Amino acid sequence: MEKEQVKCSFCGRSKREVDVMIAGVTGHICNHCITQAQNIVKEEVTNKASKDYTHQLKLLKPKEIKKFLDEYVIGQDEAKKVLSVAVYNHYKRLSQIGVEIKDDIELDKSNVLLVGETGTGKTLLAKTIAKLLNVPFCIADATILTEAGYVGEDVESILSRLLQAADYDVEAAQRGIVFIDEIDKIARKSDNASITRDVSGEGVQQALLKLLEGSVVNVPPQGGRKHPEQKLIALETKNILFVCGGAFDGISRKIANRLQTQIIGFKSKEREEYDEENLLQYITPQDVKAFGLIPELIGRLPILTHLNPLDRAALRRILTEPKNSIVKQYIHLFEMDGIQLSFQKEVLDFIVDKAIEYKLGARGLRSICEAIMLDAMFDMPSDESQKEFKITLSYAEEKFKNTKLGNLKVA
Ligand code: ADP
Repeated sequence: MEKEQVKCSFCGRSKREVDVMIAGVTGHICNHCITQAQNIVKEEVTNKASKDYTHQLKLLKPKEIKKFLDEYVIGQDEAKKVLSVAVYNHYKRLSQIGVEIKDDIELDKSNVLLVGETGTGKTLLAKTIAKLLNVPFCIADATILTEAGYVGEDVESILSRLLQAADYDVEAAQRGIVFIDEIDKIARKSDNASITRDVSGEGVQQALLKLLEGSVVNVPPQGGRKHPEQKLIALETKNILFVCGGAFDGISRKIANRLQTQIIGFKSKEREEYDEENLLQYITPQDVKAFGLIPELIGRLPILTHLNPLDRAALRRILTEPKNSIVKQYIHLFEMDGIQLSFQKEVLDFIVDKAIEYKLGARGLRSICEAIMLDAMFDMPSDESQKEFKITLSYAEEKFKNTKLGNLKVA
């Protein structure tokens, strides 16, 4: 074929009219048609991907979800069970979207409320769940929220984070999971005699209701305050699962009061039957209401569960057992310098004892370890001859004594 006569088999342009002409077995294609074809392919693939979304969801069984949680979170069996079932049901609901529903049985969403002292693993549970999921997930803090128009953030900013987690894929974000931490900080402050508006308490609860009950919410894509020039993204919250967590400081007293009145009311129950050390396990929605959450919001969080306080045994296990436990992390750190690190058993007991003595809980375990390990971490990497290092009790005691932490007075 003559050079001039070569034409694109798709648009008919001649070789002279285009920049690039690629030859195939029986025809040619020009650069314009290649670009156009590429756009078509891209569009088709994205459409197909979003249609397939529900089928791609990994349907892990509740037992499998709990097993995964067990690898990272010590104890808290009830909370793990409840979360595993909630997440599993969430996936099931998602797999129903777009499918013809048998007998019109639509599965309702069951948002979760986790109550447990600070440092008992609420955020850890949420983060661990997030590792497992292939739906967008975000953690938001309720303390920064205020009613619209006041200093602070609108509740919609929570969904901005979810959108960011979903890479601005609205479809995906609409099926995500949101963890709202410190939900107890927006409790109604009714005891406060002040006449000022409760803009960070009840007002926020009312605003949150809108998100939790399922509605179309206009979300500022970059978060923060909405302002008139900003383009908002409409997000349907019907299929977003909300998990809320809070320490609810002082709620044990309310539980105790309720239990006491019950005992008086029904003489059959003896007081001793209740575990006074862990009253949270008897929590009911009534107690959460007494604490200051409005009934409408409690109604939107139908699954209520608790986390247990961590005792000595649990703290000891937290040091060594989780997949990325503190001890394993130190061993790994030293390994990277070619040093084999080990801990005498008594050192681990010492660390736990100090965490209890200083009332630092699980969070304190790391600070105590850091205090003990600092000198070793500073010196070892420069000492080429050192191939092994064993932390003994006397070494740990000595190092701890000389730190700021060790000089603290026990409260
Ligand atoms: P909160 O309940 O206040 O959200 P976190 O989940 O943030 O507490 O816990 C703080 C830290 O303490 C975690 O990062 C983790 O290292 C440790 N921790 C707390 N509870 C547990 C637990 N049950 N199992 C393992 N580690 C825990």
